[in-house]
Amino acid sequence: MKVSVETLMDIFKSKGIRPSYTRVRIMEYLSANRSHPTADEIYGSLVGEIPTLSKTTVYNSMNAFVEAGLARVITIEDNEVRYDADISDHGHFKCTRCGRIYDFPMDVEALQPNGLSGFKVNQRDVYFKGTCSGCLDKK
Ligand SMILES: [Zn+2]
Ligand SMILES: [Zn+2]
Repeated sequence: MKVSVETLMDIFKSKGIRPSYTRVRIMEYLSANRSHPTADEIYGSLVGEIPTLSKTTVYNSMNAFVEAGLARVITIEDNEVRYDADISDHGHFKCTRCGRIYDFPMDVEALQPNGLSGFKVNQRDVYFKGTCSGCLDKK
């Protein structure tokens, strides 16, 4: 999905996010890189072209995107927060051998756990871990 700068600026404005070149570049990067990057990875990939970029800016921008519903947080790892521009319903599979995180289609909304009647669910995350087929083939 390639979105134009103008479209992103409009989306930011409609969501109450201060539009800036840096934020546009961060969002573009996240939309183009579906590898669920960490804030460090986003920073490392963009600092070459935006020398004024700081990690704080990346964190603040990502928080604003997540709050506005433009991105979501993936906490499949204990010690690392990752980001996903794909906010559609899907689960995540982490290969513990190569470390890659795969998306898989899943109707997360269809999960109806017993024992939560009368509760309001705001977030549903489905995380699977194991070994991906590529790593299993290698042996
Ligand atoms: Zn793997
Ligand atoms: Zn994903």
